[in-house]
Amino acid sequence: MTDRKYSLGIDIGGTNTVFGLIDSCGHIIKKNSILTNSNKAPELLFKNIFNKIKLWETELNLQNFIKDIGVGVPNGDYFTGMVINPPNLGKGWDDLNLVSLIKSFKNIPVTITNDANAAALGEKSYGVAKSMNDVVVITLGTGLGSGIIVNNNLVYGYDGFAGELGHLVIEPDGRDCGCGRKGCLEMYVSAKGLDYTVQEYRKEYQDNKFLQSIKSQTIDGKLLDIAFDNGEKIVKDIYKYTGNMLGLGLAQIAKILSPEAFVFYGGLSNAKHRILDFAKDSMNANRSKYQKNKIKILLSDLPDGEAGILGASCLNSFNQ
Ligand SMILES: [Zn+2]
Repeated sequence: MTDRKYSLGIDIGGTNTVFGLIDSCGHIIKKNSILTNSNKAPELLFKNIFNKIKLWETELNLQNFIKDIGVGVPNGDYFTGMVINPPNLGKGWDDLNLVSLIKSFKNIPVTITNDANAAALGEKSYGVAKSMNDVVVITLGTGLGSGIIVNNNLVYGYDGFAGELGHLVIEPDGRDCGCGRKGCLEMYVSAKGLDYTVQEYRKEYQDNKFLQSIKSQTIDGKLLDIAFDNGEKIVKDIYKYTGNMLGLGLAQIAKILSPEAFVFYGGLSNAKHRILDFAKDSMNANRSKYQKNKIKILLSDLPDGEAGILGASCLNSFNQ
């Protein structure tokens, strides 16, 4: 029986890769998550994915049921199908022709893009941005990624790498960033940036009991959220600083794109209003009086980890 009706959406992350079988209405028929194991060859990851799909074939009693494949991957280039120097993925991933690799397993249409663009497409197609033609989706994880939708189209730019808002400089001569510049937005607003801020505050406020009680080098966001809710002033200061920096960045982006909304997605956005309320105030304070309070700040309403695979599954059909 031949029934090519599903798209396979794959969202490759530094730790986990999520993949799912999705119908044309955005229903996830099957979904799985496996370790990316980025220190091993990428071939191994796809061997594991396609082994799992073989099992789905039996479970669903279908053959050739996948019509196309879309992939969100850090530094994936929509135009060339290449992955170039992706952060948090191992050596085998650099300068990799990912489309060719996937086609060697299954020779059907394959399209890739970077992971934040895939999440943006997920929000646009099935999430909180569904009715919006102009929206910016910001993913807050280890770093800060973004996908820009203008006039109902995902913005790729000339070379496929538009939307690097994490590297917008908001503090000249600020913190060193992995991209080689200083003061990039993601060095203040991301898990990495928050870590940095906490360490700075810890050095400055050596008599603060709460900060000195945090033993680990890597800060647990939940611990900070609880402390914030309990009225811990130093955590409020840290979140206010983070929100202010985010708001500065949003105000700059708003000047260029004037989106209907900024949609937040990913681990750090679990801090929710604790950071985003400060960001909204700071964004509005940095806009002209005619532009204040126009742009919505929203949280993704899709279940954890689903925006990426839903968006990836639309890559081959989304109007470009
Ligand atoms: Zn940077």
